Amino acid sequence: MLFCPPGWRNTERGAKKAMKITDVKSATIGTNICIRIVTDKGIDGFSQIENNKDFVKPLIPYFKSMIVGADPTNVEDCMRRMRRAGAFKPWGKVISSIEMALWDIAGKDAGVPVYKLLGGKVRDRVRVYQGSFVSESRPHKDPKTPEEIAENILHLNEIPEGFTIAKTALFWHRGGFYKETDAYNTYYPPKSSNARFNPGSLLTSEAINMSIDFVARMKKVVGDRVGLAFDSGPGFTPIDALRLARGVEPYNVMWLEDTIAGDYTPYTMAHAYRDLTMQTTTPIHTGEQIFLRQNFVELIEKQAVNIVGPDPADVGGIAELKWIAEYADLHGIMMAPHGTFDGVFGMAALTQVGATMPQNYIAYEYPFGNPSWWYDIVEGLPTNFLRDGHVTVWDAPGIGVTFNVNKASKYLSEEDKDFFLG
Ligand SMILES: [Mg+2]
Repeated sequence: MLFCPPGWRNTERGAKKAMKITDVKSATIGTNICIRIVTDKGIDGFSQIENNKDFVKPLIPYFKSMIVGADPTNVEDCMRRMRRAGAFKPWGKVISSIEMALWDIAGKDAGVPVYKLLGGKVRDRVRVYQGSFVSESRPHKDPKTPEEIAENILHLNEIPEGFTIAKTALFWHRGGFYKETDAYNTYYPPKSSNARFNPGSLLTSEAINMSIDFVARMKKVVGDRVGLAFDSGPGFTPIDALRLARGVEPYNVMWLEDTIAGDYTPYTMAHAYRDLTMQTTTPIHTGEQIFLRQNFVELIEKQAVNIVGPDPADVGGIAELKWIAEYADLHGIMMAPHGTFDGVFGMAALTQVGATMPQNYIAYEYPFGNPSWWYDIVEGLPTNFLRDGHVTVWDAPGIGVTFNVNKASKYLSEEDKDFFLG
């Protein structure tokens, strides 16, 4: 019999006692829902969810019930408990944000930035692109024409933040044209009260020509200084998407996003996207609404798009995003993650995973603090972290950003007043 000193058979001895999740709290802070995962070790994890308070917040206790008592550092175990009850928005959104808070805890517990747990960084600066971010000093406060929008984009390139890629809404995504035109006169629709998110019908020649002209006029102002992407739909019929994609080929745009399906459509239309992508040299992009890697398989394996853009706050979190990026890379497909409404914590999480992405990485859509006082209630962001269109990766444990509880507490409503307590 092997000599075994007293106590060595005790699995508790020498082994790290597992941490347990004791609570998952939520609060509305500014335009975001914030999540706090509480543990019995005194380590908290934080994340944010897109600003859909009324239908997101009530779901949080449902998913909380699946992970209370689990070890938050076993992120995948927690995710397996919740994924089976997930779906496209809003359910997947809650699961996704919980995932990012779990990684925050895992990193803090290990004393390392999350990127170390996702395989380590391959870049020190992560490129971002402008989506909804606006500069207070922009030349046009309410830009209407393509030229005014383009001049604002040039300004975003000239300020210290220095964005090198910008995304603009086009046609369906703008709710129609930039001019005062009745959107219903631009296609042959079943009449609808919501033109933006309904599937469209065949476009008129005016609609196609003006959309192409919109791109051409912006490109004429911006030139090659800033890469231009266009969030176009969803709602295009495949043939109209092709007419648009071919029409803008001379302007070498970064991508056309969500033409056929996308935003708030709980399906991918990979078969239709493939036909579009195979017939144009304009890069085709989709993916921000999709939950889980399984729903990217057809898009990726069929080469149905050139670029995928999962949002970590919808797809199932940052590890899910990483796995999709790797699989896309195997198929020669680019990665440009979505991130409009995920706030400062979302930006921090995107920076962590962006640092680890393979070579197919282009840029993530830059989420920002809204309102701007968000930057006063968090700690950990380095000075000038966004310069020349890149976020410099920082090395604090977890996602590297946390609340200043004293300052943040002032923004809690009566309903959420115990968010930081316990
Ligand atoms: Mg979009």
